[in-house]
Amino acid sequence: MTDAPVPARYYPPGGDAHGHPVRLAWEAGSLLILRDDGPTLRAPAVTLAVEARGFNHEQWALSWPGGDHAPHLLIVADREAAPLKQVAPTLFRQGERYRRAGRRRLSAGLALLLLLPVLLIGLLLLSLEPLADRVVEHIPPEVERQIGEAMLLRTRAEGPMIEDGPAEAALQAIAARLTRPGEKLDFHLARRPDINAFAAPGGVVVVNSALLQAARNAEEVAGVLAHEIAHVTLRHSLHQVARSAGLRLIAAAVLGDYGGISGWAAQLGELKFSRDAEREADLHALDRLIEKGIDPQGLPAFFETLARQQAAGNLRPPVLFSTHPATAERIEALRANLAGRPQVAATPIGIDWEAVRAALATP
Ligand SMILES: [Zn+2]
Repeated sequence: MTDAPVPARYYPPGGDAHGHPVRLAWEAGSLLILRDDGPTLRAPAVTLAVEARGFNHEQWALSWPGGDHAPHLLIVADREAAPLKQVAPTLFRQGERYRRAGRRRLSAGLALLLLLPVLLIGLLLLSLEPLADRVVEHIPPEVERQIGEAMLLRTRAEGPMIEDGPAEAALQAIAARLTRPGEKLDFHLARRPDINAFAAPGGVVVVNSALLQAARNAEEVAGVLAHEIAHVTLRHSLHQVARSAGLRLIAAAVLGDYGGISGWAAQLGELKFSRDAEREADLHALDRLIEKGIDPQGLPAFFETLARQQAAGNLRPPVLFSTHPATAERIEALRANLAGRPQVAATPIGIDWEAVRAALATP
């Protein structure tokens, strides 16, 4: 006999679905079902089938044959079943095995459920770059310009710009030679000690004064500008901003509000392009220089100038076009490409470069 009766619910064969509250006891190899509202039932152990039930297998279903092929059924909570397990352990043994297997299945299921968001986020991150690239195709030109303007604003905030004088005039003259009809490009000269230039989305090109000072002539500068323009027209800059913005950009595209993006883009440091993007920009630069009747040798010549200056120790290594590696390989690729093209007559840009350098030397 069990020490304390075990509470359970009893479902008679063909009876109601709610069940009757009963108490269970064990006596001489039989289960006694003590009913408040009816006679006590007795189910011999041999007739009993015991199964774990419920979402987390926290219940036991005890059944035995009844009339009309429907069994008698008892539902017992696992936490209440201890006294029964104690007196009739064999009854629950088979069920316990199922219970443990069921629990293992359940915990595997739960683990998968918990893992799912992690997997989804992983997938999302993997697809973020291609997604950002696709969003770029839909960014309106005025948003592109806003981003460029924001980046220019930041450059202005970081240090002085050169708004007039021979160097600024020289930059605009070279830019005018390079610009195709209908193109909207803005060139700005920043007074900075590092030899660099960058292209922001929307056609904003910023050139540092040190670059003009390092160049030996206008054709070398034209080569660099043509390269930067290529980054703009190939939308490398916009793609780079988009990839850095990632989810931010996708959210902006979904909401149709890019307002936050330009402000955010302004916080970005220098845009870094892939080697493929650099090679592509180099070749497009040569196309433009030739098309505009400018000596295309200026581009490789400028990289050689940089390499020479660096070798002579005139340049601090970190500032040397960190985003534009002037490798020997790159110079060679440019020269080889030019060797394969028909020679065309170039019209010299005709700017007194010594005067430009002198103007920049006096602040
Ligand atoms: Zn570049």
